[in-house]
Amino acid sequence: MGRLTRFGQSRHSAMRRTTADVMRVLFAKREFKPHSPSKAPCSFQFSKSQLFRNDELGAMIGPMNTDSTNKRQLSRRELNTQFAAFSFLLPAANCALATTVRAEVSSTVRPVKFPDGTAVPALGQGSWHLGQGRHPADIEEEALRTGLSLGMTLIDTSGNYGDGQSERLISHVIAGRRDRVFLVSKVEADQVTGDEMARACEASLARLGTNYLDLYLLHWPVSDSQFSEVVAGFERLRGAGKIRAWGVSNFNVRQMEDLFKVTDGERCATNQVGYSLSDRGIERDLLPWCEEHRVPVMAYSPLGGDSGTLVHDSTLARISTAHDCSAAAIALAWTIRSGKVIAIPESGSVVHVKENAVALSTALTPEELHTLDAAFPGPGGEK
Ligand code: NAP
Repeated sequence: MGRLTRFGQSRHSAMRRTTADVMRVLFAKREFKPHSPSKAPCSFQFSKSQLFRNDELGAMIGPMNTDSTNKRQLSRRELNTQFAAFSFLLPAANCALATTVRAEVSSTVRPVKFPDGTAVPALGQGSWHLGQGRHPADIEEEALRTGLSLGMTLIDTSGNYGDGQSERLISHVIAGRRDRVFLVSKVEADQVTGDEMARACEASLARLGTNYLDLYLLHWPVSDSQFSEVVAGFERLRGAGKIRAWGVSNFNVRQMEDLFKVTDGERCATNQVGYSLSDRGIERDLLPWCEEHRVPVMAYSPLGGDSGTLVHDSTLARISTAHDCSAAAIALAWTIRSGKVIAIPESGSVVHVKENAVALSTALTPEELHTLDAAFPGPGGEK
């Protein structure tokens, strides 16, 4: 049970109920359709004051966030969480309704585009430690489902996370909603010769209970001499409909350059690398290279990994107070600030996932970015 609001209800249960209730009404009215990765989600702006409008949306949201005697405005944190959920369920055609909900407290949700035009939310969900007893499995599944419902529809896993346990857990989460999830898995560097990649992919598909991956990544670099074989293996899987796109992970600039020299190497959709306020090394050369070549970066360990240093950082805590959100949300908002980076925080906790989702609709001011640069200098010192 989360902290009780002054109206005697759990803040988190209130959030869960209101979001679900609004969704139910909207779906019933056929105003909104489920997110499809091929349809670019729209961005829109939203105002606290609009919650008490008398128009259709205001009428739906307003009563659910007030009790009969005590009307109250949603906090920024609650508002952003609901807002993030809306934006990724709204196909562009329905933006007209959304644009009626626009005013002074603005939040922008930007999707990130892969080179083939596929748009994904800037915030996904990692799963390295899931399905391995860190939290009860049903809680971890609920955490992932919560993330999906809040717009974090990209799930990152790997065939080797917990020896396949992460993929097995995810299979329960995506069952019945596969088309609403952008699923990423990985093949290991020692699984790329002969038919090994195809077999690894089939094993991942079986564990995940699906017949395709949206994105398949090479987990760690192989030697340059193997790049052609790796790309050919990925392209065969793509041709067979087993994967929709492929990419790499932990590649440096030289390796990206060499990859792009082999046939079809430029079809690489992303490079997944470590990136966070406490790990800004890629800003030196890899991030600019990827921007120049229109390859979005997928940032792993965006909260600093297991160390937890970022979520307890005092500068982030100070900035988060102004936004009425968590330090984690500020760290994530910073990571995805350019619109060219997808962050994949991992959490097996529903409360944490809700906190993280707020980053989708949190825009940092130039002053806040400057403060963060001073507290966490990039490779060139303060920027
Ligand atoms: P991370 O996402 O930076 O941090 C995860 C840790 O933060 C967990 O201990 C989690 O605990 C905690 N956490 C999450 N949200 C929180 C919140 N709001 N407040 C407080 N604590 C919070 O690190 P990561 O797991 O290293 O990276 C994320 C994902 O990237 C992995 O799961 C994996 O999918 C991918 N990855 C890929 C590679 C690669 O080589 N390609 C390498 C590393 C990671 P709770 O579960 O208790 O919330």
